[in-house]
Amino acid sequence: MRLRWTLALAFVALSVLQIAVVVPLALRNLSSLLAGQQEARVDQLMVTVDAEAQRLQGDVRRAMDELAASQALEDVARDAARVPAPAHVTTAATSLMTPRGLDVLALVDDTGRTLSSGHLPARLGEPDDPLFAVTKKAARGVVGTRVELSTPDGLVSAPALVTARAIDYGERRVWAIGGVLLSEARAKDLSRRTGARVDIVTDGATFASAGEAAPPTLTRTVPVGEVATIRLTFSQADLVATRAEVLRAFLGFAGVGLLLSIVLGFLVSRRITRPVEALTDAAQQIAGGTPGVKVEGQGASGELKGLIDTFNHMTGDLKDATDKLVASERIAAWQEVARRLAHEIKNPLTPIRMSLETLLAASQRGPLDDRFKNLFTESARAVLEEVDRLKRIVDEFSQFARLPRPELAQHDLAAVVQPVMALYAAHDGVQFDVALDPGGLVSIDRDQVTQVLVNLVKNAEEAMAGRSGAIHVRVKVGTEVLLEVEDEGPGIPASLKDRLFEPYVTTKPQGTGLGLAIALRIIQEHGGRLEVSDGRTGGALFRVSLPRVSPR
Ligand code: ADP
Repeated sequence: MRLRWTLALAFVALSVLQIAVVVPLALRNLSSLLAGQQEARVDQLMVTVDAEAQRLQGDVRRAMDELAASQALEDVARDAARVPAPAHVTTAATSLMTPRGLDVLALVDDTGRTLSSGHLPARLGEPDDPLFAVTKKAARGVVGTRVELSTPDGLVSAPALVTARAIDYGERRVWAIGGVLLSEARAKDLSRRTGARVDIVTDGATFASAGEAAPPTLTRTVPVGEVATIRLTFSQADLVATRAEVLRAFLGFAGVGLLLSIVLGFLVSRRITRPVEALTDAAQQIAGGTPGVKVEGQGASGELKGLIDTFNHMTGDLKDATDKLVASERIAAWQEVARRLAHEIKNPLTPIRMSLETLLAASQRGPLDDRFKNLFTESARAVLEEVDRLKRIVDEFSQFARLPRPELAQHDLAAVVQPVMALYAAHDGVQFDVALDPGGLVSIDRDQVTQVLVNLVKNAEEAMAGRSGAIHVRVKVGTEVLLEVEDEGPGIPASLKDRLFEPYVTTKPQGTGLGLAIALRIIQEHGGRLEVSDGRTGGALFRVSLPRVSPR
């Protein structure tokens, strides 16, 4: 993967990681904070509920104290024993109850017999044991108890907060037992004050309830004496909604953050990697053989700028060094060529000198007779022969030394090879096998490539001297265009394989050893390769590879 993408991805991964760590943590903290706040609110409401219960009890106590001190009750106590009971005694509870805000009021004598009942007038003259039991409990305290009362639906038993007061008249004692019902109206009132659903539960069954609480909920209970429990159910739906809202907001932020980090990551990584990519490209170009490539340092700063400067400095040095190396290699190569050329020239000079010396000696021996004439003819021929050889050597050398730059044009290689091969006819047991694939377009100097072909075929013919067989000339078209010349001669001598393309390497008495050196130079100047390998029958296989071009 490219550095730019790797860096951009790293940025994104980092921000995703951050979000993945921070968001759940923040949400958890927020959740517990919200839950804590909710609990605190509920606790506060429960204080209100307690205060309300206290207030209710206080009201009951005050009402009953005031009742116990009233003249009306003193009258009841005074007349309680009269038979039949006077009307002010039997209706006393009903008339005294409502103005004092009481739901329950019974007047009973010392034996527990009902003298008057506000909430259940039918109980007159009968005992009301549960209510009478209150007189035995905590002296002026308010207690919870069940009270039987008549309703349009009949007799029901309802929870109530009651207290008892004794009214003494001489020896006689009358009890006033009164209080308030834990009714639906009270549940409604509590629900309104607390915002909770309120259930008044007695003996496991709900006696009265008010309000609603959407789930999820939080429940608290308040016992009322031994008879009832007030259950408050607080809805936590708003808590859940808040949490969801915050989560949404968080995710929104996270999304925007992620988007930003992607954009930012890409921008930053581009800024960082642009110089690095330029450096990589330049390094590749240098590796590909173009020394001295410079990198533009635009946009780079700090260490990257330093790196680019150093790189440019290094490529500059490298180019200088390469140039110097190439120059000294060229000098060394020419020195070698000159050395071999001198050697080649010296070879014919020795026979020339010897011939002339022989002639000189003979001419000094006496008059120029027939023998001298013969000797002269022979020597002159030898001298001419050697001079010819010298001329050939010098001609080929000047061709090698002054090889003109190729004049390139696009050709189908098969169309270049075909007319040349048409000039060759089978001779002395040697046949020509020509197979040319068309369509191999190359950019070449036609004359120079023809020269290479003629040279390779000439070498093949010379290698096959005195043998019979075929010389195969092929053009093959692939990603490159190949020209192959394969013979069925003895192959390249092992001693020569490494030096075959060097100037003046030859095994032939009349050879100059420049043919393959010239061919190699021509092909190299075309950007191609010239290689030799063993042919199928053990002969030599020369292969020219040229870059294939697309038609202009
Ligand atoms: P020259 O032909 O003048 O000797 P070249 O450079 O053309 O110079 O060839 C150099 C040497 O390479 C030859 O002398 C010969 O020994 C060897 N050679 C070239 N072509 C072939 C071939 N087809 N088969 C065997 N040897 C070859």
